[in-house]
Amino acid sequence: MAAPDTLAKHHERDASDLEVSRCKHLAIQLAKFPRVALGHLPTPLEPMDRLSELLGGPRLWVKRDDCTGLSSGGNKTRKLEYLMADARAKGADTIITQGATQSNHARQTAAAAAKLRMGCHILLEDRTGSSDPSYIMSGNVLLDRLHGATVSKRGGGTDMTAEMEALAATLSDDGKKPYIIPGGGSNPIGALGYVNCARELVEQANGMGLHIDALVHATGSSGTQAGLVAGLTAIQSDIHLLGIGVRAPQEKQEGMVFDLAQRTVSHLGTTAEVTPSHVRANCDYVGAGYGVPTDGMVSALKLLAETEGLLFDPVYSGKGLDGLIDLTRKGYFDGVSDVVFLHTGGSAALFGYPETFNLPGYMAH
Ligand SMILES: *Cc1c(COP(=O)(O)O)cnc(C)c1O
Repeated sequence: MAAPDTLAKHHERDASDLEVSRCKHLAIQLAKFPRVALGHLPTPLEPMDRLSELLGGPRLWVKRDDCTGLSSGGNKTRKLEYLMADARAKGADTIITQGATQSNHARQTAAAAAKLRMGCHILLEDRTGSSDPSYIMSGNVLLDRLHGATVSKRGGGTDMTAEMEALAATLSDDGKKPYIIPGGGSNPIGALGYVNCARELVEQANGMGLHIDALVHATGSSGTQAGLVAGLTAIQSDIHLLGIGVRAPQEKQEGMVFDLAQRTVSHLGTTAEVTPSHVRANCDYVGAGYGVPTDGMVSALKLLAETEGLLFDPVYSGKGLDGLIDLTRKGYFDGVSDVVFLHTGGSAALFGYPETFNLPGYMAH
């Protein structure tokens, strides 16, 4: 489903009591699944007053999932609460996962494995071809290694799932009990973390007397958006959810989210029915490709650093923010009053892209 050009209508809701009771019901359904506490939850929901004033559109808020706490935070922590619990329940002693070189998912997985006294093997795919020493050794790669993970690299286009399976076979032969977490932690187990986030956000907003009209965030491997779609559908919330794509074209991205949202709902065991109309992705802000900086991302990231004191990352949240700002300027949110940007984290990746920001006066003394 393509997103409409403007959100003409401000949906009035008065059913917050009903919503709160549906949130409680969802919490009971989620409690059936094993979960380890890894994140600082609930994360704060804060107004971005300077940005809102500057753009002159709706009031903009930020849901601080960059503050989940684990190894500088990010959205993968919520997914890992369920994935690591599943690994434990299955008797695993070693975690295997994969991602791009500057993967935030890999970093949070390495930290979670360390905390839970498990081994961790990370396979990093070179999706950008960059040989910049900061990109290949600093930022998230530095942190992966600090957390004691075994890191190995693969060329761009490698079948990473096959590589993880081959590694799991080798580790099993050595007497280990490996558990594979897919890229981005995006499967129905990981997506439960964002079902839980949908519940948390709706309860939090209700507690503040806030009516959220729209929720915007960066979407990649799709688990975040799929979990939010599943959770918001279960609560019967009318929040307009919009993912800003960072890699795939729109049709593919929406297809991935829809498929995983359906599988998440059935894993959750609710009667909620996800339809394609619940799934919206705008993939106009990807630029030349995954992990390749764009001018819009650079200006959005600098603007938020300078006006709100907030840090975003070049690969995901910075591009998501570019989408939020550009769509606000184009009137997409005209007529609505409160829009939340879900900050999915990733600022550790900034240190893998020091040249990108070309800051005036940088080291010029
Ligand atoms: C992984 C990631 C995303 C995208 O989340 P998905 O669940 O993979 O769609 C967004 N922002 C940051 C900072 C991430 O690390």
